[in-house]
Amino acid sequence: MIDVAVAGAAGRMGETVCAAVEGAPDMSLVGRADPRLGVALADVLAAAQPPEVVVDFTQPDTALQNALACVQAGVHVVIGTTGFDVEPLLAARTPEGLPRANVLIAPNFAIGAVLMMRFAAEAARHMARAEIVELHHDGKLDAPSGTAKHTARLMAAASGGPEPPIHSVRLPGLVAHQEVLLGDVGQTLSIRHDTTGRESFMPGVLLAVRHIGELQESPVIGLERLLF
Ligand code: NAP
Repeated sequence: MIDVAVAGAAGRMGETVCAAVEGAPDMSLVGRADPRLGVALADVLAAAQPPEVVVDFTQPDTALQNALACVQAGVHVVIGTTGFDVEPLLAARTPEGLPRANVLIAPNFAIGAVLMMRFAAEAARHMARAEIVELHHDGKLDAPSGTAKHTARLMAAASGGPEPPIHSVRLPGLVAHQEVLLGDVGQTLSIRHDTTGRESFMPGVLLAVRHIGELQESPVIGLERLLF
């Protein structure tokens, strides 16, 4: 059994992750950290039964601090939170004497979104120009989305050109959607992914929890590193 704790456990994503972990036959939910529950992540990390893996779906201004606390405690951390600077994590080291803690950051855990990014990167090699439109619910704190920024980076790396411009839409009624539009002489290509429920992210989150301990390098950015 993998002992798992969730940071942001009372949030929209955190609640769904808690249910998914509780439903996984090979995982045990040992901690829920969230200001709304009156439980700090530090307390969960110092508990009598500490987690082996923390899953973080919090906020841009707390995810980095949470991740550093996990690494300092020798606990692996799977980060779904978007919109924060990952640079300090590149240099984060687990203290001597503790098992090495790995960090996996995935801007999108939905398999369809990972495929959309992969197809967009391939298409960017062959089409003249591209633009990205990302659309999310109006409670989302960051813009552009982490998925859109990651897509733009992958497309630029594949094509050798500049990152495509990103347009952000925030409206009630939306969940998480992205369309990559590519244009060339006399033709366009659209690659679109729609998330209609937060359950779509759960297989990817559980995959990351199961395999984060096996990573040979850290941090790893993108679920594609585990899928392909
Ligand atoms: P949310 O509903 O606002 O949930 C965030 C929760 O984290 C809130 O309950 C918040 O409490 C809590 N929190 C804040 N600071 C914390 C800390 N230091 N320790 C523990 N908990 C803390 O947001 P959401 O919609 O679930 O989204 C969470 C993040 O996931 C966002 O960055 C979003 O972009 C990202 N996301 C990623 C994916 C993916 O596939 N990677 C998919 C969907 C969403 P308070 O409200 O009291 O501050």
